[in-house]
Amino acid sequence: MSQYLGCDGIFANASSATHAAGHQAREAVDEARHLVGDLIGAFPHEIIWTSGATESINIAIKGIMRSPTLRGRHMITSCLEHSAVLDTCKALECEGVDVTFLSPDADGLMTADVIQPALRDDTALVSLMHVNNEVGTVTDIRAIGHLVRERGILFHVDAAQGAARLPLDAQADGIDLISLSAHKFYGPKGAGALYIRDSLQSVIVPLTHGGGQERGIRAGTLPTHQIVGLGEAAGLVRDQRQADNKHLVALEAQLFRGLTDIEHVIVNGSPSHRVPGLINLAFPCVDSAALLLALRDKVALSSGSACTSLQSAPSHVLRGLGVANDRAMSSIRISLGRFTTAQEIDFVATCLRTHVASLRALSPAWEAYQTDISAASPVETEHTGLA
Ligand SMILES: *Cc1c(COP(=O)(O)O)cnc(C)c1O
Repeated sequence: MSQYLGCDGIFANASSATHAAGHQAREAVDEARHLVGDLIGAFPHEIIWTSGATESINIAIKGIMRSPTLRGRHMITSCLEHSAVLDTCKALECEGVDVTFLSPDADGLMTADVIQPALRDDTALVSLMHVNNEVGTVTDIRAIGHLVRERGILFHVDAAQGAARLPLDAQADGIDLISLSAHKFYGPKGAGALYIRDSLQSVIVPLTHGGGQERGIRAGTLPTHQIVGLGEAAGLVRDQRQADNKHLVALEAQLFRGLTDIEHVIVNGSPSHRVPGLINLAFPCVDSAALLLALRDKVALSSGSACTSLQSAPSHVLRGLGVANDRAMSSIRISLGRFTTAQEIDFVATCLRTHVASLRALSPAWEAYQTDISAASPVETEHTGLA
């Protein structure tokens, strides 16, 4: 990336067609386009550069739902989506778009069976996330992709969280639009991509107007260094995903072993359909804000999405899964990654054991809770994870 930032490197504008330096920058951008396309089974010209998944999601959903060529003004999403999707849909409701926010099935999953009854003759778009960023659950994208394609409905997938863990194939999975974020797979922050199926590119209504970059869909000078970093990260994650997942399955099992001494730990979200390394745990009778405060200088943990961690309301994802308010307020999210070590896992488990115990000792509700053991299930020690 630094090679594209200074005078001693290639600082030229990738859109400058009149000099060699501009051409060199363009080549770097094109190579990144191939790398990102390869990650999701797309052609390079179907990749549009953006500032991150939030912008990709806005261009995708608004760009489609504002198109005059649509067959209807109805769209479907889920109540478990990231706020980038939820708030974009709410903004569109003010423009007269009819949005159905579906709840998941009993396992907390969005499946073809959940989507199917909500499809209407005027449904133009279905937008769902691949992997949930708070509980790690996986959506069966291929089954839903085929269902909606049969009906001639467009399908947008928010793959910000999934790209680091699971493969996605725009063609085979029947997807029309995919939003990606570089920093969710070890790339730079402020860089993202939007896959738009070739035949849709003339349909989408752009949010910004200007120099016509990115096929007129996203005007503005390209940040070469960000794009190079995004491309490199996409290539690396494709090669390393399997090894990463194996590492995370082992760390996760170690973490669960380290937590078995804590009484009453509940895993939020489906225990089977999830990616390794993203764990949402409830410690009944422990205020998660107090737990995070006690650990703030030792471990980087959160109660939900980093984007909403400044709010004190219970997570909309946990509420959407039917988790009661008090359990939601006792839940934390533990996120492991490629660079997490076994020593760190032991350290976190020790910290959690100590602080959960001391906070419960101060909790008047804890004694009453213990006498009602049937209210909780023990921590899961077996995890299927990913092969
Ligand atoms: C992080 C995230 C986003 C937003 O991505 P940015 O690149 O930070 O804008 C959207 N959806 C999901 C599922 C995410 O995890």
